[in-house]
Amino acid sequence: MSNLEDFLTSKEEEEIVEAIRIAEYDTSGEIRVHIEHNCDTDVYERALDVFHILKMDNTKAQNGVLIYVAVDNKSFVIFGDQGINNIVGADFWNSTRDKINSQFKSGYFKQGIIDGIIEAGKVLSKHFPRNHCDNDELDNTISKG
Ligand code: CA
Ligand code: CA
Repeated sequence: MSNLEDFLTSKEEEEIVEAIRIAEYDTSGEIRVHIEHNCDTDVYERALDVFHILKMDNTKAQNGVLIYVAVDNKSFVIFGDQGINNIVGADFWNSTRDKINSQFKSGYFKQGIIDGIIEAGKVLSKHFPRNHCDNDELDNTISKG
């Protein structure tokens, strides 16, 4: 069984948290990354559960985006709340997923996650620009299951 600590080094984790911070600098949207060992149900169902557990369905503009990774299953899901889903279609999520996937396939997990954050950040900043009274509704740290 692989180790969650081996999946990303602490330096890589810091880089991911920094990428979230930078992405959220331009948007009210909230991006989170959740990693866990394995998922014994459907990954999409599990990602939805995590979305609720992390209270990501509670943002004011319903513009939370979750990148969920099940390390042992070698699978991931990028998932957005209703506010953002009403604007961007499946094409956006599919192309973002493909970008992440191409990095993952080469073993570049940190870069795949960061690419996902950058893509989500771009679309969020376009549709949900940050205003001066914005606050950080959801922690930027990586959560682990
Ligand atoms: Ca915010
Ligand atoms: Ca945040």
